[in-house]
Formats: sequence, structure tokens, C-alpha cells
Amino acid sequence: MNQLTSNYDYIVIGAGSAGSMVAAKLASADSATSVLLIEAGGAPSSPQMYRPSDWFDVLQKNTEIGWKGYQSVPQPALSNRVIQLKQAKVLGGCALHNATVYVRGSKSDFDSWGKVAAGWSWDDVLPHFENVEKVMEILIGEPDSFVHDLFVAAQEYGLPKNPNYNTSESQYGYSLLQFNNSRQGANLFRETTFSTYLQTIPNNLTLISHAFVSRILFDRDSTAIGIEYVKDNEKYAAYVNNEIILSAGAISTPKILMLSGIGDEKQLKRFSIPVVANIAEVGRNLHDDLFVSAGFSIPEDKPLPNYPYSLAPAVIFGSTQNDDANIDIESSVGVGSLKGFLGPRYSFWLWPNVMHSKSKGTVTLRSDNPDDPPLIDPGYLSMPEDLQKCKEALQFGLDIGNKLVGWKNKQISPEPDADLEHYIRTTADTTHHFCGTCRMGDDADSVVDTQLRVRDTSGLRIVDSSVFPLPVTANTAAATMMIADKAVDSINALQ
Ligand SMILES: Cc1cc2nc3c(=O)[nH]c(=O)nc-3n(C[C@H](O)[C@H](O)[C@H](O)COP(=O)(O)OP(=O)(O)OC[C@H]3O[C@@H](n4cnc5c(N)ncnc54)[C@H](O)[C@@H]3O)c2cc1C
Repeated sequence: MNQLTSNYDYIVIGAGSAGSMVAAKLASADSATSVLLIEAGGAPSSPQMYRPSDWFDVLQKNTEIGWKGYQSVPQPALSNRVIQLKQAKVLGGCALHNATVYVRGSKSDFDSWGKVAAGWSWDDVLPHFENVEKVMEILIGEPDSFVHDLFVAAQEYGLPKNPNYNTSESQYGYSLLQFNNSRQGANLFRETTFSTYLQTIPNNLTLISHAFVSRILFDRDSTAIGIEYVKDNEKYAAYVNNEIILSAGAISTPKILMLSGIGDEKQLKRFSIPVVANIAEVGRNLHDDLFVSAGFSIPEDKPLPNYPYSLAPAVIFGSTQNDDANIDIESSVGVGSLKGFLGPRYSFWLWPNVMHSKSKGTVTLRSDNPDDPPLIDPGYLSMPEDLQKCKEALQFGLDIGNKLVGWKNKQISPEPDADLEHYIRTTADTTHHFCGTCRMGDDADSVVDTQLRVRDTSGLRIVDSSVFPLPVTANTAAATMMIADKAVDSINALQ
């Protein structure tokens, strides 16, 4: 094995939404601190990736940025389908191929976090959302006649207008959608924490890209001392003085931990991996939201909307229980004229994300070979009540869509007489909102404590979407960035 001679004060694994911010902030806090940021991917190959309006196109064409083989095991409740789970392998992480939608989550989400993880209630996390929003531009979409008519339909359905779902007391109702996009002249650009926080790489930060971390190295006292990685088919090691911060995302973070000897000892022993810490919950509690699709054709003589965004600039937060205190639907909206959209051009869609489902899944090892993708079982609809929730969320989308009389030619998906249960089982899909696989908590079973330190080890912290203790009423990037901002404060406070 080749060995790098230099030690770093911090090593950050993964230059995604969380890792890029953590590395940048650690480096900028003290110019005498050395930081290594190491990432399996490289720079994106095409400038198209930064154009929000090309999102669907990018997802189909630029597949080379994704982790190969990241897919679910067959899902019994989804007609045994294998669901493709996109995870970006690129500087910027999943923010390079996400829809750039910016939703903080509800006050009650984080007050629930605070009950299981002290210091993470709404009042604790709000300043960190605000810090993120000082750096990442949040653009509020502009309405057009389609959005105007959609809002009239949502109002007729009985929903209130919400002036700003991120800053209002409640998320409930219909709103203009907010995006992590910046405007440069007439064009919009997607923002990632890599492109903003690391626009200029500071001298004390070493960035190594196209470098695959295979495991974390420990001494006999379970202190993290370095990493082993592969670059250009050569194996290397790098060592750390203070801490390793693992920010490889909700799927890869538990995989790296298990390969390094942290996980359920029964599983580790099956692959003859020496146990560093027996933490059974590593890779458990995988949460993801499903979305369902309500599609309608548009008359072909109607001028189609032409958006510069990834989606139509509208969102509707609702409740399967018709209770504004229990929001579990976040309906995105799309039109067939979005570039790269695979359905009919003359169509519009409501895509209710079905949130706070009870079903949970797992990430486990397939083998002890780091090159093998993990076994990912999101357990979609494994709890029977979640199917009913999906039905109600779909009905919500259908009811609002059917009220859009100026735009609706006919309901095309599901067809009006379709069996909704069969339709959901054969079409519901991932929102890619993976979280929870290394949950934080006050309890001894949690993978990390509330400072995000991995239990029963020292010198190792996890900062990414895997540490969510509970799901949020939101897409997951905003909360992930908030976690990164808050984590750096606690790392710096300890030094
Ligand atoms: C298709 C899609 C659409 C989405 N849309 C939205 C949206 O509109 N709004 C929203 O809020 N959220 C959205 N999300 C979710 C959101 O993007 C993620 O929750 C968030 O980016 C997760 O950040 P992270 O830091 O946890 O992980 P990531 O951003 O995935 O970063 C992890 C990084 O670690 C690297 N890495 C992993 N393993 C290794 C290894 N062994 N060695 C070296 N490097 C490694 C990866 O290559 C990656 O760059 C979407 C996600 C996807 C996939």
C-alpha cells in the first residue's frame, strides 16, 4: 500500500451536500488547520448539469455520475419491482442531480427531533437553516397562468394560500415553490454546497477527487486514526490528528461503517470483518418517501408552460387526514413540456410525496468487498397502513387535478376506472429522500450521539442525511445542510 506522508487535522469523506460544507467551514475557521476532503467522484462532465430546467434530461443522460448498482432489492408490496435509487458520485453529491427544491421541514418535525435528540428542537436548528440561507441562494418561483389556475383549484379543494411554507407558522396549503438556484442574467443555475462554499478552495484544504474510501482505520482503543482509499487502481492510506467526518450519504455511510467494523456484530462476523464497535442499528431505520402520480392530458391547442425550473414552481402541502396539524402530503407539480420529461408533452401532473410513512428499511452488506454495492431494502409499504396513506394522497392529487378545468382534457394516469391499489403497487416510486440509517439520539442504541459522534469509538463523527432521527415533512437537502452547519459549530467548540 502507498502511504501519504502527511497527516491531516480533519479528514472529511464525501464532497456532497453535507461534506463540502463541513470541509469548507472547518478550513475557514482556522487557517492553521489542515483538512482533507476526499470524494469518489470528480467534477461534473457537462455544464448542462447546472441548468435546473434540464433536470429530467440530466437524470436520464448523465447516468455516469451515479453510484453503479444502487437499487432496491425486489419490493414485495410494489409488485416485486426493483426500484432504481439514484445516488450521485460527483463533487457536490446529490445536489448535482436533485430537483433543487428547498423545504426546511415543519416546526413540529424538529420539535419531535428534540424529544429524542436533545439540542435539535426547532429553536435549536432554526439559526442553522438561516446560516445556510445566507450562503445558498433560495429563489422563489414565479407564477404563470398554469400555476394561477392550479392555485384556484387547490383553493376550491379547500386549501389555504400559504405565502411562504418555509417561514409561515405552518406549511399547510398551496405555495410558490422555492429552489436552490441562482440567477445569472437571464439564466438560472443550480447551487450545490460544493459550488458555493468551495467556490475557491482554501490553501489549507486538500481536495482529492476520484478517490474511493474503502474503510476507516482504527487503533486498539477504537479511535479512528485514518482511512484507506483507492485512486487510479492504487491503494493509499491517509492519517488524521483530530477527527474523521463521514459524510458519504444515507446509503454509503452505513456501508463504510460496516466495512470498517462498526455495525451489528452478527452481520460483521458473517463476512469475517473484525468488530470495532457492535452497534446493531447501523444501516437500520432507512426511511424514504414514495410518490404517486396523478396525470392529466392538456388540450393540444393550449400554449404549454415553459419553465426555467426543474418542476412547475408550485407545491401543495396537505394531509391524508384532512388535518392541518398533520401534514403528510407534499405535492410537486410538473408539465409534459419540461425538458426530458418521458410522458406525453401535452400533460400536467400532480406528484404527491407521501410522507411520515411507518415502513422502514435497511442497508446491509452484500459482501466484504468494498466494490460491491450494498443490499438496499427500503421496505416500501411493508406496513399495511402506508398503502391507505398512498391511496389518499393519490386521491388528493386526482381531486385537485380534476378541478383544473381550463387545462384538463382528461385524466390519463390512473385511468378513471383503474384499481388504485394496483396502480400504486405498479407505479409508486422513490423520492430519493433517504435518511435515518445512522440515526442520532439520546438513547444508547442510537448510532451517533447528539454531537454526531459515533458511539463506542472516538475521533469519528457522521454528518449527513443518515443521522436524521426521524423523517421530516420535506425533501431532505435543506435539513442535511442545516445539520452540517450545526455540526461544525460543535466540532469547533470542542477544539
Ligand atoms: C434524484 C434526486 C432528487 C432529489 N431532489 C431533491 C430536492 O429537490 N430537494 C431536496 O431537498 N432533496 C432532494 N434530494 C435529496 C438530497 O439531494 C439529499 O438528501 C442530499 O443531497 C443528501 O446529502 P448528503 O450529504 O447526505 O449525501 P450526498 O450529497 O449524496 O453526498 C455523499 C457524497 O459522498 C461520496 N461518497 C460516498 N461513498 C464514498 C466513498 N466510499 N468514498 C468517497 N466518497 C464517497 C458520494 O460520491 C457523494 O458525493 C434528491 C435526491 C436525488 C437522488
